[in-house]
Amino acid sequence: MEYRLLKRTRAILIFEDSSPVNRAKLRFRGSANHRRQPYLHRTIPYAASCYYSSPYYDPSACATTKPNYYTNQPRTDVYGAATGLNWESCLSQTCALNARNTSEALSDECYLGCLSSLYVNASEARHVVTAVKFAQAHHLRVTIKNTGHDYFGRSTDLNTLAIWTHNMNTMTYHADFTASNCTASNVQNIGEIGVGAQASDVYTYFQKFNMDLTGGNEGSVGLAGGFGQGGGPDVFSPSYGLMAVNAVKFDVVTADGQFQTINQCNDPELFWTMRGGGGGSFAILTSYRFQLHPAVKINVYSLLQGWFRAAGQRNYQPRCAGTGSHITRNVPARLPSKAEVYLVLLSNDETALKSLSREFSFFLTSQPDILISESNYTTSRIFEAVASRLIPKSLFETDTTVSDLISAVLKRVRLSNKVVTQQGALAQVIMTTPVNHQNGNTTSANPGWRSALWHVIMTGGWTTELPRAEKAVLHESRLDTVEPLKDLAPGGGCFYSECQATFPRTT
Ligand SMILES: Cc1cc2nc3c(=O)[nH]c(=O)nc-3n(C[C@H](O)[C@H](O)[C@H](O)COP(=O)(O)OP(=O)(O)OC[C@H]3O[C@@H](n4cnc5c(N)ncnc54)[C@H](O)[C@@H]3O)c2cc1C
Repeated sequence: MEYRLLKRTRAILIFEDSSPVNRAKLRFRGSANHRRQPYLHRTIPYAASCYYSSPYYDPSACATTKPNYYTNQPRTDVYGAATGLNWESCLSQTCALNARNTSEALSDECYLGCLSSLYVNASEARHVVTAVKFAQAHHLRVTIKNTGHDYFGRSTDLNTLAIWTHNMNTMTYHADFTASNCTASNVQNIGEIGVGAQASDVYTYFQKFNMDLTGGNEGSVGLAGGFGQGGGPDVFSPSYGLMAVNAVKFDVVTADGQFQTINQCNDPELFWTMRGGGGGSFAILTSYRFQLHPAVKINVYSLLQGWFRAAGQRNYQPRCAGTGSHITRNVPARLPSKAEVYLVLLSNDETALKSLSREFSFFLTSQPDILISESNYTTSRIFEAVASRLIPKSLFETDTTVSDLISAVLKRVRLSNKVVTQQGALAQVIMTTPVNHQNGNTTSANPGWRSALWHVIMTGGWTTELPRAEKAVLHESRLDTVEPLKDLAPGGGCFYSECQATFPRTT
C-alpha cells in the first residue's frame, strides 16, 4: 500500500486510511496521552512548498528551499528528506525537484515517496521507548532515521512508524570516565554524544578540549548512527582503528521497548553487535561513548589534475600518468576528465612531513599540467547508485598483483563511465583502513577491514526520474563494476554503509 495524497482539506493532508500505520495513528492521536506526546508528526516532503498542488505550497518557503537543494545539512534537519533522492521517490512518485534545474518538478503531484507518513521526533530516549512500545502494541513496522544519508534507503520505508533521532544531539567530554560496574571501561578522555550529533559539530565541540576522534569526512553524517554502528573508517583509522573499536558504552532501546545502558561487562553480546554490525539492526541507539585521542594537526595537501584533449582526438588522454590518485572524479567520457589527490597527514612535525613528501612534491611541481588547489569536497542532490570493495594488503605484495589491481580498478572506472551517462561517475580509492590497528574479533565490523589497505568506491548519479526498467539496468550494471575486484579479492567484502546498491525495493 502506498501513501498517496488523495485530497486536501484546509490544512490537513488526507491519506489512504486503510494502512496499519494510519489506523494506529488515529488511536495515538485520540488517546488521552497525546497532549503529552506532541512529538508525533505528519511528514511534509522537503520540496512540498514548491508544488502548487500541495497544501504546503508556499512560494516564499520554496524560494528558501531551492538554493539549498544541493546541500546536505538542511536536508538532514527535516524528516521529509533523504540525502539521496532515490528514497524520496517511489515508483516515480516523489516530491523532488530536478537538482540541475530546481524550477522543474520531478512528479505531477507531491507524493511521500519512500518516506513514512508519520514520524516521532525523538529528542529524548523516553520518546523512543514510547514509540517502540506503541509500535509493538499495534504491530507496526518501525524505521529509524538519523540524517537520512543511508545509500540503500534503510532509514526510510513505506508503511512504517518512523523514529527520527536527529534531535538527540547533546555532547559531553569526560576527562575521567567511570563506567557502570565495569572497571575495564574506566578510562580517560571519553566523548559522549547523542545519536543525532553530526560530524562537523562533534569535531568543533571536542577540539575545545584539544581532542579528536575517528569520525569520517562528511560533516553532516550522524557519527553515532549508521557510521559508528556500521564500523566507521576515518583518517585516524590506521592509528586508532574504526570508530566502532573506540566505543566503550551505548545507551539503547531494545525491540521490547526497554532502555538499557550496555558495556563490555553487563551485556557483552549486544555490546559486540553494536560495535560495527550495522545501524538499524540490533537496537535503537540513543547515546554513544567512545575513546577520544589527543588532537594532532591534520595537514591536507590537495591537488587537481586535469587531462587535456589533443586536437582531433575523441577521448581525453592523461598527459601525466601514474600519479597514484587517492580520489578520481570522472565525467561520462571513457577516461576520467580529472583526478583529485588528497594526502591527509597527521603530524605536528612539519619538518618531518616536508622531508617525507619531498619526492612527491618535486614530481608534482615539475608537471606543467598539474594544478594544486584547495580541497573542495562537495556533493550534489541526485539519485545515486553505489558499489564498493575492500582490497586486502596481500594484493600489494608483488608487482604482478599490483598491476592486476590497477587494471581491475581502471576497468571498473571505464565500466562505471559507460553505465552512467547522464550525470557522471565518481571513483574513489580511499586509503584510511585500520590496517595498523588490528583488533581481532573485538568488534562485529566486517573482518575484511582487518586485512584491507584500500577501500574502493564507485558512485554514479543522475538528476531526473528515470523509467523503472532503465533504473533497474543502471543499478544492475553498477554491481558489475565490482566484479573485476571481486575476482581479484574473493571474500574481501565491503564497508557496511557503502557496499553495493541492489535495485531499490520500490523505486
Ligand atoms: C554525502 C555522503 C557522504 C558520506 N561520507 C562518508 C564518509 O566520509 N565516510 C564514511 O565512512 N561514510 C560516509 N558516508 C556514508 C555514511 O557513513 C552512511 O550512510 C551512514 O550509515 C550514515 O549514518 P546516518 O546515521 O547519518 O544516516 P541514516 O541514513 O539516518 O542511518 C543509516 C542507518 O543507520 C540506522 N540508524 C540511524 N539512526 C539509528 C539509531 N539511532 N539507532 C539504530 N540505528 C540507527 C538507520 O536505520 C540506517 O539503517 C557518506 C554518505 C553520504 C550520503
